[in-house]
Amino acid sequence: MPEQLKTALSELARTALNALNLARTKTEIEEVRVRYLGTKGSVSGLMRQMGSLPKDVRPQVGALANRIKDELTRALADRLTDLSAQSQGPALDVTLPGRRTRRGRRHPISRTIEEILGIFTRMGFNVAEGPEVETDYYCFEALNFPPDHPARDMQDTLFVSDKVVLRTHTSPMQVRTMEAQRPPVWVVVPGKTYRRDSDVTHTPMFHQIEGLVVDQGITFGHLKGVLTSFVHQFFGPDVPVRFRPSFFPFTEPSAEVDIGCVICGGPGCRVCKNSGWLEILGSGMVDPEVYKFVGYDPEQVTGFAFGMGIERVAMLKYGIDDIRLFFDNDLRFLKQF
Ligand SMILES: [Zn+2]
Repeated sequence: MPEQLKTALSELARTALNALNLARTKTEIEEVRVRYLGTKGSVSGLMRQMGSLPKDVRPQVGALANRIKDELTRALADRLTDLSAQSQGPALDVTLPGRRTRRGRRHPISRTIEEILGIFTRMGFNVAEGPEVETDYYCFEALNFPPDHPARDMQDTLFVSDKVVLRTHTSPMQVRTMEAQRPPVWVVVPGKTYRRDSDVTHTPMFHQIEGLVVDQGITFGHLKGVLTSFVHQFFGPDVPVRFRPSFFPFTEPSAEVDIGCVICGGPGCRVCKNSGWLEILGSGMVDPEVYKFVGYDPEQVTGFAFGMGIERVAMLKYGIDDIRLFFDNDLRFLKQF
């Protein structure tokens, strides 16, 4: 009897596994489970016959029955896993397009600085950089700013101490460059500058590019030629340029450079305050007073200087109406460049 029961159990296991292999759907698998492992299933039926077995063979048969039950349970679970994997399609689809590596990009201010430096270096300028923490001497005094000049006012300048400031412009590098070398000088200076100012067009830290040319026989014609060429390379060959008389302590004569409004194209808009023109940089012939501070002979050399705000020209070129966007680091904004 025990041998008979053992054979019956093994036979049952074989047919159950066969049936499972033939099952093609979840419902068919469930039918196999109910038929062989359910409370009224074949395995349970056979196990109920255990009571009629002699006590000494019960453990042996019981262990076999349990092993078969476990084996069937595992096989059922495996089949269900296979089936759900198949219904989700193949694990690897070689026809799918690859995932692109996301690349970073340069900040619009860095790009603008690089573009401007590119234009000037192609015209023969060298690039120099200087300290952001500057002495009053280089920031104001040697640039011919009188002691009572409004640019020295506490309202504009960020003081580190009595005679040390965060530079309010990149112009101190004019003096430092001339101290360090003899003419000819052809230099552009990009860098951070600081003023106590904050609204939609001003931030306490902003960027400038300064330019300085000193040599024998440099005239206002050179200034106009270089800056007109710059405007046409940066904003486009058809953008109108005009030079308007102005005043700076370290240049004489001085001129502000306007371009035809790139937003409205001339008729007038909010950005150009209905004038059709936009101021983009300050310039002028280097004041002979400045040469005295660096030991150049004003009888021998002449030169011109210019400076512009990077954020301002970038805002005009890309049509950005709030300077703070440059410093918010919002990817939705930065991705547009
Ligand atoms: Zn306009």
